[in-house]
Amino acid sequence: MRLVVLGSGGSLPTRDTLPAGFALKYGGVFLFDCPEAAQVQLLRYGVGFGINAIFLSHLHADHFLGLFGLTQSMGLMGRKDELKIFGPKGTKEFLSKIFSMPHLRPTFPLAIKDVSSGVFFKTPLFSMRAFPVRHNCPAVGFVVQEPPKWNFDERKAKAVGVKGKLFSELLEKKKVVVEGKTVRLESVAKETPGRKIVFTGDSAPCPSIEKNSENADLLVHDSCFASSEAAAAKEKFHSTAREAAETALKAKAKRLLLSHISNRYEDRSVVLRDAKAVFGESTLAKEGMELFI
Ligand SMILES: [Zn+2]
Repeated sequence: MRLVVLGSGGSLPTRDTLPAGFALKYGGVFLFDCPEAAQVQLLRYGVGFGINAIFLSHLHADHFLGLFGLTQSMGLMGRKDELKIFGPKGTKEFLSKIFSMPHLRPTFPLAIKDVSSGVFFKTPLFSMRAFPVRHNCPAVGFVVQEPPKWNFDERKAKAVGVKGKLFSELLEKKKVVVEGKTVRLESVAKETPGRKIVFTGDSAPCPSIEKNSENADLLVHDSCFASSEAAAAKEKFHSTAREAAETALKAKAKRLLLSHISNRYEDRSVVLRDAKAVFGESTLAKEGMELFI
């Protein structure tokens, strides 16, 4: 799983930063939010335009303005494949209206769908789940979840007569009957949980983030403000870096990526310090950064 940071900042761009957005490369390309100039970043960082689906956390403009340039370019480059776009309640109505305008109508099919909670999208490699977060408009977070992997103990399997096709049957049905005896998968194989990445989009701290981030390999969390500006974070339904770190700690996440950092911090080290004081495995998102999960 390769995650590329397209943008790391809050709503206002700077010379060096864009509003937050991410591309996940794993059996396809999947975008999490689509900030203005996302297409330039996709070229700059070698991701390309072969995008399977776009997941929008909410409909504040800094999270979707990049859609229009990107779809124009995809059309000019001859895209024929359907592009899936998911977002919170209201996304389908809103984007369908905009994309029906003559000069913005894509030359390829769009499938736009509202999501609120639960699994709504699957690939052969992972499933995607949405969960509600706390912002000042309908907003969701996303969980990329790989299924668990089972590693057989060859010795144990042989001892109870599991061989050949029985391995795949056991994986599928979780138990098989060998010479009249039931063999359960867990008695001859060890389960390794699949990898998990969580994106909060814009959100104040909330229990649903903590619950959905349990044991995440990577938590990408709103960290708009330093803890000295906790009041501003609360008023604007964002999080401080410290709050993001507290969530990562409680959820037992392995790594925390601080995202959507306000442009008021020309030197972001204050944001990182706040997070690291609580959760050591904290990193600042930065344009072009690649994380391997
Ligand atoms: Zn927002």
